[in-house]
Amino acid sequence: MVHRVTDYLLFYFQGGFGVLMIHYLSYRSVVKSRYGQPVLKVPVNAGFSCPNRDGTKSAEGCRFCDNRSFSPVALRQVESPAAEQLRTALARRRGRNGPVLPYLQPFSNTYGTIEELKKRYEPLLAVPGVIGLAIGTRPDCFTEETYRYLAELARRTCLSIELGLQSAHDATLALCNRGHTFADFIAAVTRLSSDTIETVAHVMLGLPGETGEIMMRTADRLAALPCTGVKIHQLMVIEGTEFATWYREGRLAVLDLDEYAELLCGFLSHLRPDQQIHRIMADSTTANGLIAPLWSADKPGSLRVIHRYMDEHATRQGSQYGVGRLNG
Ligand code: SF4
Repeated sequence: MVHRVTDYLLFYFQGGFGVLMIHYLSYRSVVKSRYGQPVLKVPVNAGFSCPNRDGTKSAEGCRFCDNRSFSPVALRQVESPAAEQLRTALARRRGRNGPVLPYLQPFSNTYGTIEELKKRYEPLLAVPGVIGLAIGTRPDCFTEETYRYLAELARRTCLSIELGLQSAHDATLALCNRGHTFADFIAAVTRLSSDTIETVAHVMLGLPGETGEIMMRTADRLAALPCTGVKIHQLMVIEGTEFATWYREGRLAVLDLDEYAELLCGFLSHLRPDQQIHRIMADSTTANGLIAPLWSADKPGSLRVIHRYMDEHATRQGSQYGVGRLNG
């Protein structure tokens, strides 16, 4: 296999030089080179709801969803406005902040009227050090008015919209009770990127009914879209969710760490080389309801295994990009 020189990093350690292979384009490295220092991403709970929970799309939510586990900030009552939560978090760091990116994380943070959006976004932008907003939401939570406001916002700040997708296959989305289609995602990403807004797709590996080949097709489809970044993680079974029942009934299996490492590396190889990778695994704890896979509770140990797999298999993001199309 031939690698470009830029896939390697020369480093100096304990009196000698070494070479590290760069396996993927990390979002962290991109923003560090853009701002000359690391950017501090601070999760805040802006108090929005979700149409897949409030009865608009469904009242049950996605079958894997327990925002308490995926997002520790969702555990906190929204007693204080998001800007106050951010100020409190920054004060704890005693000035060691640098550029700050508030991340509106739990639930669907574009699910509201324009007035509600402005009321929750704008005070965050006024906090010293804030360079923009990262907004987590669903692909079906946009109106024409929302798009116009976000486009205006993107002209004056650094704006990134993180869209929950999980899979590019409608059968899987239906099985997970997502309440939206892949076409909804395409429409949102196309419109947002036409307004030069960065978009990040959240995907899960190991969803029920999906083979490795099906998961790779999701990567191919993302690679064909103007999607700036991708967040990838394993399916986690969380107490209190529908999938927890399926798991206990033997209707749902989870990936072991070796299987996940292999699928993740395959997925990366199908993405475009320029798509920024925001995350390669998620973590939770049994105290937060994690049932399986339990390797999710040991993030440092699991990441070591994943990186070892990448080294051993010379994983390179984008190495399979377009290969299927070239082969017809
Ligand atoms: S869209 Fe997000 S918040 Fe809403 S039910 Fe699904 S995972 Fe939960």
